[in-house]
Amino acid sequence: MQKITVAKGDGIGPEIMNATLDILKAAGAQIAIEEIEVGEKAYLAGHTSGIAKEAWETIRQNKIFLKAPITTPQGGGYKSLNVTMRKTLGLYSNVRPCKSYHPFIKTKHPEMDVVIIRENEEDLYAGIEHQQTDEVVQCLKLISRPGCEKIIRYAFEYAKLYGRKKVTCFTKDNIMKQTDGLFHKVFKEISQEYPDIENEHWIIDIGAAKMANTPEVFDVIVMPNLYGDVMSDVAAQIAGSVGLAGSANIGESCAMFEAIHGSAPDIAGQNIANPSGLIQGAVLMLNHIGQTEIAEKIQNAWLKTIESGVHTPDIYKEGVSKRKVGTKEFAQEVVANLGQKPTTLAGVKYEQGISFDLPKYERKPSANKELQGVDIFVQWNGDNPDELAEKLQQLEIDDTKLTMITNRGVKVWPEGFDETFCTDHWRCRYQTKDGSIIDNQSVVKILTKAWEHQMDVIKTENLYLFDGKRSFSLGQGQ
Ligand code: NAD
Repeated sequence: MQKITVAKGDGIGPEIMNATLDILKAAGAQIAIEEIEVGEKAYLAGHTSGIAKEAWETIRQNKIFLKAPITTPQGGGYKSLNVTMRKTLGLYSNVRPCKSYHPFIKTKHPEMDVVIIRENEEDLYAGIEHQQTDEVVQCLKLISRPGCEKIIRYAFEYAKLYGRKKVTCFTKDNIMKQTDGLFHKVFKEISQEYPDIENEHWIIDIGAAKMANTPEVFDVIVMPNLYGDVMSDVAAQIAGSVGLAGSANIGESCAMFEAIHGSAPDIAGQNIANPSGLIQGAVLMLNHIGQTEIAEKIQNAWLKTIESGVHTPDIYKEGVSKRKVGTKEFAQEVVANLGQKPTTLAGVKYEQGISFDLPKYERKPSANKELQGVDIFVQWNGDNPDELAEKLQQLEIDDTKLTMITNRGVKVWPEGFDETFCTDHWRCRYQTKDGSIIDNQSVVKILTKAWEHQMDVIKTENLYLFDGKRSFSLGQGQ
């Protein structure tokens, strides 16, 4: 018997959770349920992250969490519980299978069967944001090697276990050469460990267009957090409806399963919500905990129900659907179909013992890291970069000179263009002319001079060589 934590959530949450639990029980899932309260009630009781301390303990003890959607109260001060949970519990992998159920659910893509695997903890979702000048705010995009290795290896292992043929990677590394560049580089490395699985990389913009137009050419797609957030909703919607997709959030010790949609307060309490998204989440959960036979039984019964035209109002279509039913009745129909297989749609066969045993991340030996210069960011309200350069040249020390000024990444000195629009946020690069190494003391000296000359320094970034290789971007136009 596997202990699992269950939260019924807000809005339609309790209705779709009760429907899902009825199906799990009838199918003979070997689970013991421990219920916790998360969401609106917890927020309003003063827990700004939507969860009480005791509830955390239950989740950590049971490790497996089936969660209905929750309502995030509008207004400041409340943190998204989903983001907090994913990060606090180290749920690094978000898996969303998006499949069409043609001809029973309307879609332009009858052959679509894509699994989006999204990195779940880092990227711009690290949430490190600052206002730096009157005119400029910043969000840090953090991509780590362990983050990339874990999610990319997960994607290939997923493909292997579920008999998928190809893993595609989406990034924008033609622009973000360091961050997305690392993700792509690690993808290339890890794909070598899986010679039987095809691999390919697409720049996200054209990849996204291709996925929206011909999703059937993709199989498993792995990508960094923000792209994955957007693309997985697109994928679920074009497959038929966001109301039909479930998602798994997997970590090294804990895992959380849910529907991808929200708490739909507009239809709460009316017994009209579609419980399919959460049922799909529960099927992912059963596979994860090794109860593959039960997962298979529920999925086939669910497919049979969809195929027999018994539909909730959100997917009901005159001429295709046969009977419009409520949440409860839909679940009863799935229960009645347990043991049956679909005849037109392809039934599922889950292999016994699906379990992920990923190797622990091993830190590589440190590279030889050398300081080659420093970028000093200043707020300056003038508009002539030559004038700024004159001021900045007063901060030069020994042979460490001002080599470049950029504004929003575009080189504006030396030899800038009058046409370039400039804000009050300037990056000022100091390096030795011959590219030789400097020490941290030089940075401190430049900063001290900046203070003496009343320059408004916002922040600094060190310019490193890792094993002799430049590891910072050039200015656009440099
Ligand atoms: P939503 O997904 O709740 O609803 C969007 C639309 O889809 C609504 O018209 C709704 O009626 C419909 N819909 C959603 N699920 C349905 C279902 N199962 N059956 C039939 N129709 C369904 O998105 P929203 O309105 O933007 O958000 C409502 C609340 O949910 C917000 O507080 C938001 O923060 C929260 N939310 C929670 C989660 C989560 O807990 N995982 C995810 C997304 C949004």
